[in-house]
Amino acid sequence: MGLKLFNTLSRSIQEFAPLAPPKVGMYCCGPTVYDFAHIGNWRTFVFGDLVRRTLEFKGYAVTQVMNVTDVEDKIIKRVRETKTSLSEFTGKYEAAFFEDLKTLNCLLPHQTPHATEHIAEIIALIEKLIARGIAYQAADGSVYFSIEKYRGCGCTYGQLLKLNFDEMRAGERVKSDEYAKESVADFALWKARVPEDGDVCWPSPWGEGRPGWHIECSAMSTKILGPSFDLHLGGEDLIFPHHEDEIAQSEGATGKHFVKYWLHGAHLLVEGKKMSKSLGNFFTLRDLLAKGFTGREIRYSLLTAHYRETFNFTLEGLSGARTALARIDECLGKLREAVGAPNSDSAGTDVSSSQQHADSEIGVPNDLVARFAAALDDDLNISAAWGTVFEWVRETNRRLAENSLSTAEATVALTEWDKIDSVLGIGAPPAADAPAEVVALLEARQAARKAKDFKRADAIRDKLKAKGWVIEDTPKGPKLKKI
Ligand SMILES: [Zn+2]
Repeated sequence: MGLKLFNTLSRSIQEFAPLAPPKVGMYCCGPTVYDFAHIGNWRTFVFGDLVRRTLEFKGYAVTQVMNVTDVEDKIIKRVRETKTSLSEFTGKYEAAFFEDLKTLNCLLPHQTPHATEHIAEIIALIEKLIARGIAYQAADGSVYFSIEKYRGCGCTYGQLLKLNFDEMRAGERVKSDEYAKESVADFALWKARVPEDGDVCWPSPWGEGRPGWHIECSAMSTKILGPSFDLHLGGEDLIFPHHEDEIAQSEGATGKHFVKYWLHGAHLLVEGKKMSKSLGNFFTLRDLLAKGFTGREIRYSLLTAHYRETFNFTLEGLSGARTALARIDECLGKLREAVGAPNSDSAGTDVSSSQQHADSEIGVPNDLVARFAAALDDDLNISAAWGTVFEWVRETNRRLAENSLSTAEATVALTEWDKIDSVLGIGAPPAADAPAEVVALLEARQAARKAKDFKRADAIRDKLKAKGWVIEDTPKGPKLKKI
């Protein structure tokens, strides 16, 4: 069964068929680095990570691009207020963002382009739009995208949602056209420098200024992924105007279909209410870590709801995440024990005993990976996916309690778990000190290597792995790491 996803462009669930399989080009709107990202932002980024991991699990060769918006109205305001430089200010929040991304065990995007490092590409794109007659410079020096001219070329503005152009025009007379744009719906591609911008500006054919927010995503996504690519993701709040404007700019400039599949993650509520600082339910990731929760628990919690459902994030839910993870960890711990102790009573290796059980019992659902994959194929049905995980945990625990799981079966179970965890990314509990027997094995492996007995060294490495430890060879010597 192939992967099916809800495409905002067609407003329907579609079979995922990339433009040039197995390659998949994927663009996620990234952070605006003016503050610490809050839990609502993180829901979207974890969703993006789930999409990427699912595609990789299915064998696609994904290129994930996530932009960093490091120049923008709010940033400039804060730079002014804090009397810092642009790079000093954004650098701090960018570093925090990537640290948080790691805390939540999100894979690092393959490319993370910065708006300020793509001014030339942005200018070139605006020049193209002006040459095509769908962008114009207004009296204040700013350059705007003309929706009327764009539509006049036979292009559609309002691909992701239906827009009422009469209503949009009705607003024209309102004094919202502070930049002297021709129509209220037109949006800025290049913002002419104003005194409040301080020294945050770049030279351009239209005078000093800075790019608008929407144009940076068009410039950087098409530069890296080409004029047409497979997937574009973001929170649903970005559908309009940001993503609609991205389509208009990109298709207006290239004349090509911009993105095949648009995926949008739904909002997040906190304790049943819209998150706001005044309600006291506004949490950054760091606030939650300070309350004693781990990135792993927060990731699990964010991954419990379907991406298109509004998710009610609660502290109670986070505590529930802790319990759920403990159940998984306990089961995995017992499996590792079973694998690492082939002579124990609990793990008979002889074929006859396992066959006997296979005949008489439902057994550990050894199709965990297949059923997990089928759940994800159904528009990333994560609840069903967790359902298969916990059913597997229940069955595995039952078999372990009955001493009816062979070493071979336990090994298979752990391998299956590793496969599905490549998607879930919940990994193992935070690092613990290695027990004495593990340290002894490491020493034995070192001795074997020294004696050039690589076969034995490898066998010990495998044994350690079965116990849940990997050896990392560092310049300072080998180090033990919990899987
Ligand atoms: Zn964007």
